[in-house]
Amino acid sequence: MQSLTTIGFDADDTLWQNEQFFRMTEKRFAAMLADHGEEKHISARLLEAERRNLAVYGFGIKGFTLSMIETAIEVTQGRVPASVISGILDAGREMLSHPIEPLPHARETVEKLAGAFRLVLITKGDLFDQERKLAQSGLGDLFDAVEIVSDKNAATYARLFSRHGDGPAKSMMVGNSLKSDVVPAIEAGGWGVHVPHELTWVLEHVEAPVAEPRFRLISDLGQLPGLVDSIMNPG
Ligand SMILES: [Mg+2]
Repeated sequence: MQSLTTIGFDADDTLWQNEQFFRMTEKRFAAMLADHGEEKHISARLLEAERRNLAVYGFGIKGFTLSMIETAIEVTQGRVPASVISGILDAGREMLSHPIEPLPHARETVEKLAGAFRLVLITKGDLFDQERKLAQSGLGDLFDAVEIVSDKNAATYARLFSRHGDGPAKSMMVGNSLKSDVVPAIEAGGWGVHVPHELTWVLEHVEAPVAEPRFRLISDLGQLPGLVDSIMNPG
């Protein structure tokens, strides 16, 4: 009996770059509103709006764009010119068409593990955008299933690893977010592997579950096949 049969991969900032596009757009947004406050202040207001709106819009670029518009209205006390709204919409549209930038070792690692394990891509974000990125990445055929979900919690992983695998106990989730990828997968009874990315959204930060026996930390995806092997063949 194999101890591990199913591996879930996060997509954004695990397989390809994502947060850097948000940071770039945020800078551009702050520059558009430079007359109404310093970059730091505008960014803080934007983060407040994103936090407020998460439960309504969910994760992704479209919600982010709406939060930018909301923030622009707020910081200008309702006087934001249509040209700025237009600039915000352009910035959001550009984010939705930026080319994919795969992260180091993403392809070789997914190729190495495909076949030997059931691979499931598990990601949040806009459906359209994630499907576009997956198609562009050329990795789609290597995954047995793709799940674009509105949130990632323990119940999500219990459900998905039962649907696509042999339950969470024989499953592993790999991703850059401790909060969305690692902690809830362990909570569900699976393995949680953290692959940190230098840019991770502040709302995705939690403490690493270092005391959990099923927690692992790797510096890049190139280390994943070795880690999987050590779990399959302990001692
Ligand atoms: Mg991610």
